[in-house]
Amino acid sequence: MDKWKKRTRAVHAGIRRSQYNEVSEAIFLTQGFVYDSAEEAEARFVKAGEDEFIYARYGNPTVAMFEDRIASLEGVEAGFATASGMAAVNGALMALVKAGDHVVSSRALFGSCLYILEDVLGRFGVEISLVDGRDLNAWKAAVRPDTKLVFCESVSNPTLEVIDLGAVANIAHANGAFLVVDNVFATPIFSYAAEAGADLIVYSSTKHIDGQGRCLGGVILGKRELVRGPIEAYLKHTGGAMSPFNAWVMLKSLDTMDLRVRAQSATAQTLAEEIEGHVAVGRVIYPGLMSHPQHKLAMDQAGDGGTVMAIDLKGGKDAAFRFLNALEIFTISNNFADSKSIVTHPATTTHQRLPQAQKDLLGITPGLIRLSCGLEDPADLLADVLQALAQV
Ligand SMILES: *Cc1c(COP(=O)(O)O)cnc(C)c1O
Repeated sequence: MDKWKKRTRAVHAGIRRSQYNEVSEAIFLTQGFVYDSAEEAEARFVKAGEDEFIYARYGNPTVAMFEDRIASLEGVEAGFATASGMAAVNGALMALVKAGDHVVSSRALFGSCLYILEDVLGRFGVEISLVDGRDLNAWKAAVRPDTKLVFCESVSNPTLEVIDLGAVANIAHANGAFLVVDNVFATPIFSYAAEAGADLIVYSSTKHIDGQGRCLGGVILGKRELVRGPIEAYLKHTGGAMSPFNAWVMLKSLDTMDLRVRAQSATAQTLAEEIEGHVAVGRVIYPGLMSHPQHKLAMDQAGDGGTVMAIDLKGGKDAAFRFLNALEIFTISNNFADSKSIVTHPATTTHQRLPQAQKDLLGITPGLIRLSCGLEDPADLLADVLQALAQV
């Protein structure tokens, strides 16, 4: 499979066919597996081979197809699929640290990631330092000899701060720490995390991988010794496994992910360019725009601005709410990366619980709106945004 390009691997990698030689991937909706003899059962519990399964919490043929396909796309050796993106983040962090360890993370994080770091790991005696992820000196100053793990969102939600992953990987590795990257916003299509040196790459497959608003899921990707070592050990015993049905949905989604993500990104680029400079808009934040402070870094790393942008309306919360309520195609929701275009007001929804000081620090202003571009006709989406802006 390695010799084929990403789009080919997205359709074919990891396929396992049953004795019927079906074309489309089968759903093995089974919890367990039977053994022909007591000796076989014993042997499998001692060491299960690549295609030998024991129990669906440990592994399942449909889930394994998804894991192998997404690992092939990412260019890494192995993957472990989980019930949600947060099960993946939790698994990656909990499997690698113990009481007394130190963790450094960027501050601009998805709220639930921040909860795991500060509340969960904090309760178990792990010390956390939060830094401005854009500032390499801050990373250098925070990482210490006892730092076990460095964590970041490669592109942050919702303010689209871009991390120099290669540089952060070097800082982490110079101190013997693992780099774990939440790579949701970068997407598996434009991912550069493995080349940059990330030890573990985590996705919420709820986002671009499903991309059609159906199933929750997640995956942890990396070297076999890590994924089939501490990650698998932690997850198979704590129960965060992906369901075979969801794995099948994700597998079928990978067939079309490249087309979807590229089309949605092209739409986001067009919309960002057209909206920038509008009289009602203070700022358009999109890595694909020259005005983004880290435009060059984003282009060097991903080569694309992605499917999501943020705009800051001059009129604050009132203007933001008028804009949301006036939109006809964009639906108000807190998800993103869907085939349906989605609009979110982070300050009152996804980031509502953050203290004001933290919102200020992250730039989550009352006028900030997150726009996730879907698969609709870009001209219709632009017309929708412009008519809604006119009502602001
Ligand atoms: C959505 C998201 C998650 C969590 O994923 P779920 O599938 O909802 O559990 C984690 N990190 C980032 C950056 C996300 O956008």
